[in-house]
Amino acid sequence: MTPTPPPSKSFPGVTQNVQVRFDQHRALDAIERRLATDPLRTGGIVEVSEVVRFADLDSGKEASLLRLGLLVDGLARLLGDGGVALYPVAERGLLSDTELTSNERMVLRRWSDDGLLEILPPGAPALARAGEVSALTGQPVLTRAQIRGYALRPTPGGGGSVQLVPVGPGPSPVPDQALRALTRMWRCPVPDCPSYGRPGVGQPPPQLAQGVPMCPRHGERLSDAGARPSVVALVVRIGGLVRQRFAVAAGTPVVVGRAPDQHGSVALGPLLDEEARTWVSRKHVALELRPDGVYATDMSTNGTVVVGPDGRGRLPGGQARRLGERDILELTDGVEVARAGTAAGSSDATAPGSVMADAPTIAIRMPRDNR
Ligand SMILES: [Zn+2]
Repeated sequence: MTPTPPPSKSFPGVTQNVQVRFDQHRALDAIERRLATDPLRTGGIVEVSEVVRFADLDSGKEASLLRLGLLVDGLARLLGDGGVALYPVAERGLLSDTELTSNERMVLRRWSDDGLLEILPPGAPALARAGEVSALTGQPVLTRAQIRGYALRPTPGGGGSVQLVPVGPGPSPVPDQALRALTRMWRCPVPDCPSYGRPGVGQPPPQLAQGVPMCPRHGERLSDAGARPSVVALVVRIGGLVRQRFAVAAGTPVVVGRAPDQHGSVALGPLLDEEARTWVSRKHVALELRPDGVYATDMSTNGTVVVGPDGRGRLPGGQARRLGERDILELTDGVEVARAGTAAGSSDATAPGSVMADAPTIAIRMPRDNR
């Protein structure tokens, strides 16, 4: 739903400022939903202070946090995945960069506290850390800098968009020692560390200093908190497009619904249209990873349909059923849950939506032919 913009005719200058702040707020919220430091959700890594200064991408002002949104959109278009997130890395100085507005700096601090942005200690080489995450995850760095390894170079595309051009050799094999670090859960000694202090299976790859896993935020040695549970990556597709990715780990069921309202659940409400909202239950279906596969339990009022290679059938209510690798759950017409990497059941896919829809045109000046 689109909130009504604040109306006023008597003070046009004031109205415009209010409107710009309002639009900027909404655009940053949309970008926030597409940031993560969990490689299960991301498809690329960015060094934030470089991105905010990509002025020629939009011919706008010197520094703007909204440029992150141009890269989110570029990556979504490249991968055909409207749910893919960016892994942002920045050195601590960015939080006090006076070329950004005080609101932008406040937003960055919140993202860091929420673990959506990896903030490195003062003076730490952020681009090198981005390269390390790239090497450990096989995901490209979105950068114009010369880096060793796997990169996508952002260049201005048509209509105010960004094109990403692959450069570098592509993902290289991960050394055994590093691979071992990725199969463990890690804990940081700093209380409430946003990267390695919270429950859940999503965790950034540790920084490896001569093979020793360290917290990239705090520079502290991490302690081994046991084997990382096995995880299956799932996606929610709406109208044939991936709108959200999530992971299900052994021993931690995940509830998907309109508003499941519990830790670790997947809330679809904001992504659904009016009609779908009336069909999808608050808690619609629970997913669980067991040793022999993913199990689904219907919790809904209107039911869940399983579409598989052998046809379609209703998921029995209140009873867990094992899903085949290619099975798709239909919560209602056009709203599907499936394993990441499977083809959409509905074929009416359009281009991924833009997180920049609400971006104020003063900060991001679009070329005229786009209007
Ligand atoms: Zn830490």
